Parts: sequence; C-alpha cells; structure tokens
Amino acid sequence: MDQIQQLIEILGRQGIHDERVLLAIQNVPRELFLPENLKSHAYENRALPIDCDQTISQPYIVALMTQALQLQPTDRVLEIGTGSGYQTAILSQLCHTVYTVERWEALGQIAQERFLQLQLSNIETAFGDGTLGWPEHAPYDAIIVTAATPSIPAAYFQQLTSGGRLVIPVGGSDIQELTLAIRGEVDWTCSTLCGCRFVKLIGEQGWQET
Ligand code: SAH
Repeated sequence: MDQIQQLIEILGRQGIHDERVLLAIQNVPRELFLPENLKSHAYENRALPIDCDQTISQPYIVALMTQALQLQPTDRVLEIGTGSGYQTAILSQLCHTVYTVERWEALGQIAQERFLQLQLSNIETAFGDGTLGWPEHAPYDAIIVTAATPSIPAAYFQQLTSGGRLVIPVGGSDIQELTLAIRGEVDWTCSTLCGCRFVKLIGEQGWQET
C-alpha cells in the first residue's frame, strides 16, 4: 500500500468518515506544500514547520476541520491563515470559492504559486489582518481559522450567514479547544471537537504582537 493510502486508512480509523474529504486528501499532493528537506515526511500524520516560524497542520486536523464545515459545492468559504496553502487546496476541492487571508506576504505568495501550479482557479488570496475577516466578499457560508485566538473575533459573526459554520481553535497560547460554532440569529451554538495546539492568530481581534 502506498503512503497516501496508509494515511487515508489512519484518518478513517480516527473518525474521518466523509468520503469527499478523504478523496480531497488523496487528490492534493501534500509534498508540494512543504519545504524541500521535509517532502519525504509529507504523508506522516503530523504537523511540520514551514517558513516564517509557522506550521502546516497535521493531516488529521485538516481533515477534521474540513469535515466539520460540512461544505456544499455551492458554498463560499473564508479561510484565515493561508500558511502553506495546503488546507486551502483541500477546501477548494469541496466548495465553490475559497477566500483566504494570510498575514505574512512571503507565505501567501508562495501559496499562490502553488495554487497556480495545481490549476486551482477557485481561490482568492489576500494579505492582511484576518482577525477582521474579509468584509468585501461577506457573507460566507463557512469560516475556518487555522490559528488560535483567546475568543471568537466579532467580525466572524458579522461575516457568516445565519446557520453558517465556523471552525476555530479557541484558548490559551499553548493549548486550545478546536471549536465548531454554528451561527444563530443572535449568538453562536458551540461544541468542542478536540484539544489542539495551533500558532497564534495575531491581530486587532486576536493576540497582540510581542
Ligand atoms: N492552514 C495552514 C496553517 C498555517 S499556520 C497550513 O496548513 O499550512 C497559521 C497561519 O496563520 C500562519 O501562516 C500565520 O502567519 C497566519 N496568521 C496568524 N495571524 C493571522 C492574521 N491575523 N491574519 C491572517 N493570517 C494570520
């Protein structure tokens, strides 16, 4: 069995049962999103370092977050924290358009080149403070945040449709709870998916830069 198939099997055992999510993981070459010296680790089920002191998330976490968003082919999705672009590429397989925001221009540009290379034409990129969302294209059907915040920034409530799904790590700077928040008319309904460890979401409505 090849390495991708092994990873798919592991994800299945870990509770990833959405076939469309597993197919997306199978179709997107994770090695393309890694630095040269780490490409041989692409199908291990773990997070790995990328440029600018950031990380590419563990495949299990990418799959779990994607599954929790319950994407429909017509959905427009906002992603905060493009990073390597791997999660973005997975989302792009499952929805109409992904709008992705990254704070580091250097990371965002490399990710953009990868999207071109893979001919993923339904991804819009921006650089800036994603704690404020991306108001121009709101409202979104789903929002995914791949960096940790002490609490849910208000902009995400404002920029999500009623009944829309938000997946976000919420908690301290070291350890957080991966939270699924469904937007009601006046408030969120929240549930916890698992414990997790993400880098900080830094910005006006997140952590302050130190
Ligand atoms: N999904 C990415 C994870 C990258 S790590 C992947 O799998 O590769 C989280 C990313 O969030 C980092 O690239 C970091 O620079 C970015 N980030 C942190 N604060 C941000 C903010 N306020 N706006 C946009 N991106 C932010």
